[in-house]
Amino acid sequence: MGVSSTVQAVGAFPRNKGLAPFTPKACEGIGRGLKVIPIPKAVLTADHHGRPACHYCGPCWQGCDSGSKFDSLRVFVLAAQNTGRLHLIPNARVRHLEAGPDGQLKTVHYFGTEKRAWQELRAKAFVLCPGAIESAHILLNSKMANSSGLVGRYLSEHLYASVSAHLPQLMGRKIANEDGSGLYSFIPDCTKNWRGTKFIRGYQIFPMGGAGEFTLVGNQIPGNGTDWMEAIRNYSTAGVSLMFQGEVLRYRDNRIELDPVLKDDAGIPAPTYFYEWHGNERAMFKDMIEVGNEILHKAGAEMLPNRNPHEYGHSIHDVGTARMGKDPRNSVTNPWNQSHDVPNLFVNDGAPFVTAGNQNPTLTILAFALRSSERMVRLMQNNTWTD
Ligand code: SF4
Repeated sequence: MGVSSTVQAVGAFPRNKGLAPFTPKACEGIGRGLKVIPIPKAVLTADHHGRPACHYCGPCWQGCDSGSKFDSLRVFVLAAQNTGRLHLIPNARVRHLEAGPDGQLKTVHYFGTEKRAWQELRAKAFVLCPGAIESAHILLNSKMANSSGLVGRYLSEHLYASVSAHLPQLMGRKIANEDGSGLYSFIPDCTKNWRGTKFIRGYQIFPMGGAGEFTLVGNQIPGNGTDWMEAIRNYSTAGVSLMFQGEVLRYRDNRIELDPVLKDDAGIPAPTYFYEWHGNERAMFKDMIEVGNEILHKAGAEMLPNRNPHEYGHSIHDVGTARMGKDPRNSVTNPWNQSHDVPNLFVNDGAPFVTAGNQNPTLTILAFALRSSERMVRLMQNNTWTD
């Protein structure tokens, strides 16, 4: 992937060794034992395996033209394509999977949106990795791999809160070029040091700032005309915020099901969501806001009123809809992301997670997928689907 990082071990954050880190400008020592460290980023600080170093243009979240930021299409799929042994079928929408008489998965039925026709694909082994929602959606539409009744259940994501303010010392400063790949520092989960019995599990914190395109408070500054524009200009260089990312516990009733009515234009039943926070999430969210206010007050910031907290559904870190485990009665996949019921089916996205943790899920998805793929190759070489 090419991950820039220092060798760190802070709180729940593991030691790791990568490319040279980005240099953080955030400060430490704002209390509660927090430690601000350079964030490991799958963004290149040096040319790496044919991909160029980041040139700090800015909008990474819109995709990286130079390929300096890791994504699976740019790195893994391209590498697979370069072997000459990958056949991509774009614009194909899977309707369902079908097993043969021996119970093994044999056929994928998909809707080719270019020809607007139903087509089939057969194979020896199948890997689902469209994301936790879509994997469960396909399995539910297939009525497959669900002897436990847990496909679609234990849907989880991350809980977010953010607290924003302005630092008076940054108001009205000269605007410099602040393009870059964003998010250079973070604070690993240290909540065990202060949470007491308020909630279990924890959260990490991402400090952010810089001159934005818009001030955070434009609609809260009274007045109009030149004075109002000047006030907005002064504020626009001074915005800072803390974004909190915490773990939502796994709950059986947080789930996706097939919508009884809604279908897409090919007639494929759509998924529908049932999702709620419980007491632990509400207590954690309250704590995030308290800690955020405390940190920003201590930093001397001017607090902003009227900021709306994030609500659930904000996260795109969906996991947990085909949970892994050793017992087929209470899990969908085994510890290698392999279906208990249909052994030539593997689910290599976030669906096998049993918890969201508070960390971003991509690295864990990749680690599980690697482990799963090694097993798949080994079993295929041995011409069997079990050990
Ligand atoms: S700033 Fe982001 S988009 Fe621009 S080169 Fe670097 S990683 Fe790519």
